[in-house]
Amino acid sequence: MTEPLFLSDAYAKTAPGTVAAITPEGGVVMDATIFYAKGGGQPGDSGRLVWEGGEMEVAQAVKGEGGAIVLLPADAAPLPPVGTAVEQRLDWDRRYRHMRMHTALHLLSVAVPLPVTGGQIGAEKSRLDFDMPEVTTTREAVQAEMDRLVAGDHGTGTRWIEEAELDARPELVKTLSVQPPRGAGRIRLVRIGPEEAPVDLQPCGGTHVARTGEIGRVVVGKIESKGRQNRRISITLAD
Ligand SMILES: [Zn+2]
Repeated sequence: MTEPLFLSDAYAKTAPGTVAAITPEGGVVMDATIFYAKGGGQPGDSGRLVWEGGEMEVAQAVKGEGGAIVLLPADAAPLPPVGTAVEQRLDWDRRYRHMRMHTALHLLSVAVPLPVTGGQIGAEKSRLDFDMPEVTTTREAVQAEMDRLVAGDHGTGTRWIEEAELDARPELVKTLSVQPPRGAGRIRLVRIGPEEAPVDLQPCGGTHVARTGEIGRVVVGKIESKGRQNRRISITLAD
């Protein structure tokens, strides 16, 4: 399996690594990687691998077999052979927007405290779908709450808990469509705000900014109907 370095340090823009395997489809598996693998509504990272005598553009990182993270090449250029020492370089501008958006969606789930039925993160636009049979809020109210939560500049943090602890606290799972990442008996909890009185606390395997102030100005779109029960709220970043 690939050691997912982005779980412990979302801000690493480059990292050394060794090619552990090449998949039958022609993807590169590193021993450890900073490339986030597509999942949980967050796109896979893109960037470059650079080694002595070659380089490869990474189109997207995806999940592979047995905990591997597979870096898919953007073109037909030669791949680094197994055992090669490479430098991994993220497309940081894109990833950092994903981090700001992803953290903003956590705040959106606080601004709209209803079960989340779906979501998608993008560098330009992101959204959550809510189980909201009756429209109980307004775009303006959500915008005001988002502004307040961003301006609060709350710190974020992560903690690993045992699966049994999550099973005993099912209220922590807000997103019905994405089950928390399980495996090895542990679950990663992502917290926004202080440990003793968190603004948000939920299982998540994604990448987040260190403080909500880093998100910057969020623009909340109108509340759209998507089916009888579902309401969709999209957000964009003002810069
Ligand atoms: Zn998250």
